[in-house]
Amino acid sequence: MLNLTYNVFLFLQYGLALLSFVALFFVTAPYGRHSRKGWGPRMGERFAWILMEFPAFFMILLFYVLARGWTLIVPTVFILFWELHYVQRTFVYPNLIRKSDRKIFPVTVALMGFSFNLLNGGVNGWYLYRTASQYTVAWLWDIRFILGAAVFLAGYGINLYADRELRKLRDKNPDEYSVPRGGLFELISCPNYFGEMIEWFGWALMTWSWPGLAFAVFTFANLFPRALANHRWYKKTFKNYPKDRKAIIPFVL
Ligand code: NDP
Repeated sequence: MLNLTYNVFLFLQYGLALLSFVALFFVTAPYGRHSRKGWGPRMGERFAWILMEFPAFFMILLFYVLARGWTLIVPTVFILFWELHYVQRTFVYPNLIRKSDRKIFPVTVALMGFSFNLLNGGVNGWYLYRTASQYTVAWLWDIRFILGAAVFLAGYGINLYADRELRKLRDKNPDEYSVPRGGLFELISCPNYFGEMIEWFGWALMTWSWPGLAFAVFTFANLFPRALANHRWYKKTFKNYPKDRKAIIPFVL
């Protein structure tokens, strides 16, 4: 029964990725620059981010404790990587984004984010719980782990850097959007999404797991259409927007 439940949740993760990928080409999630009326009540942006991301932070930790993960090296390394991202995203990022806390974030979007993170944190945590003793220390020398960890950290670094650059623009000009300049922004409109996407492909590689891959696929399905929408928005909004800049994949798209 437990096996069946796990498989159903895993299947749901892949199903949601596919559904989101198709739907997000037609409907861009209505927050940030794509904010618009007709999506019901709104809440403070800071609290929305904490609410959305908390289940991902918490669920994996719960399974780690249930599995007594601290007695095992590889699960401990995995959770350190995961929480490196989620402590930042849940507790640090929301406190940096905006000085004011106007009610601008649609509750529906926050609830969708919350539900997905509950599922995703749960399935990744459950997977680690089920397999905790199967990863021996030798896994840390496996090329999949080494490459995956390197890709994860590279993506994490890019994501942090790009979010920080955007924040600087927001701080300089709290009520307007500006054209980001420098670094990866010269190549693509959304380096933060690019970093996030490669980060979770790194996770999939280093854990070599179906739930890890499901999260990587979902992140791509979620952020790729939004990056295209952001890129279109930049080109429409700024007449002088750099012509050679791509949306999300340097030199390609
Ligand atoms: P955005 O790039 O749309 O916005 C990030 C922040 O920068 C916001 O505060 C935004 O302000 C500000 N900003 C963005 N562009 C400009 C600009 N040109 N000028 C001034 N300020 C700007 O990212 P998201 O809000 O969509 O995502 C935030 C983080 O969450 C990212 O790191 C992303 O990778 C991650 N994320 C991950 C997902 C996943 O599936 N794994 C899903 C969604 C997000 P404002 O709010 O006013 O637009």
